[in-house]
Amino acid sequence: MSPPPVARAEIVVDLAAIRHNVATLRRTVSPEGASPVQMMTVVKADGYGHGMVAAAAAARQAGAEWLGVATLDEAMTLRGAGDTGRVLCWLAAPGEEYAAPVAAGVDVTASSVAQLDEIAAGVAAAGSPARLQLKVDTGLSRGGATVADWPDVVARARAGEEAGTWQVTGIWSHFACSDEPDHPANDAQERVFVEALAVAEAAGLRPEVRHLANSAAALLRPSSWFDLVRCGLASYGLDPAPGHSPDLGLVPAMTARARLVLTKPLAAGASVSYGHTWTAGQPTTVGLVPAGYGDGVPRHASNSAETWVAGKRRPVRGRICMDQFVVDLEGDEAGAGDEVVLFGTGRDGEPTAQDWAEACGTISYEIVTRIGGRMTRRHVHPDGGAE
Ligand SMILES: *Cc1c(COP(=O)(O)O)cnc(C)c1O
Repeated sequence: MSPPPVARAEIVVDLAAIRHNVATLRRTVSPEGASPVQMMTVVKADGYGHGMVAAAAAARQAGAEWLGVATLDEAMTLRGAGDTGRVLCWLAAPGEEYAAPVAAGVDVTASSVAQLDEIAAGVAAAGSPARLQLKVDTGLSRGGATVADWPDVVARARAGEEAGTWQVTGIWSHFACSDEPDHPANDAQERVFVEALAVAEAAGLRPEVRHLANSAAALLRPSSWFDLVRCGLASYGLDPAPGHSPDLGLVPAMTARARLVLTKPLAAGASVSYGHTWTAGQPTTVGLVPAGYGDGVPRHASNSAETWVAGKRRPVRGRICMDQFVVDLEGDEAGAGDEVVLFGTGRDGEPTAQDWAEACGTISYEIVTRIGGRMTRRHVHPDGGAE
């Protein structure tokens, strides 16, 4: 293999890890002999920061029947990149144009009669029927039709089906607390979902796929699998329910790394970065990392996260700045040009995105999705089968 290009700060995404994770998740929800549960790999928000098109291709190689995205634009980007498989999207503002995604065979979602009317207008413009999924709010109180509105949404969807405007391909909802497996909301949402399915069935709808589970529910709640699971975070090798998830051997796909720009000694009493929020208690050496909040490194990592340099954990000292931050090398030999890993697989002891999330008071979703900015992104292991 040719040596990696020298990068100031880069994100390395291991597509073999994504293939491995998607294949592992598929085996988990469709064990040998059981009736198969389809896999939707969620690649919204630029594939949780991993690169949407490359992550989508890796997921398809590993057998994902579906891709999930939030916006119509994301769905069209997948089509533009040559993906011809099933794609579901679920978030559009009033006035957005449905004709192109309908013509491109994207499954679109409606939560209200008003959205059904907008989709019908898109169908008229496209000149071809839509693949339509209906979303019911089972307790997240975010998107989805309320239980009170559900019969009207279902009736309008059925009428559109009879008129040839669309085919209702799916009915779905989304969990609020699936990362807390004992939370009573999980059972409650599942019960409401089953009731909503019965209402749809009684109205004559026969959706191909009924789905409720995200990553955490795919790992922790087989009763929620129905016909399909929607896995985002776990596909990228991160844990959606820390402290609860079984160890499936998922591998974090993203490594964020940089090169030290400079190292220098600090005398005892010297303070570091804006606001002088950290002061050396004894003489030490520090290294300058060329990435900051302008690259999506959370400012909340100030004085809390750790990096990995020359085989050891190295704490962030002082505030994260826009373009750079300082790590404590604690007197060790490390020099300009040496690699600094912000987070990676954790295999060699380096911090993970989960470690950064804990240091910053957030979730690993946010760490990987926000990192980027001026960092370059490099995909490795682009080809190959499922494992
Ligand atoms: C983002 C999202 C998912 C994926 O959630 P993960 O916890 O990352 O698996 C599934 N469904 C919907 C509706 C989403 O918005």
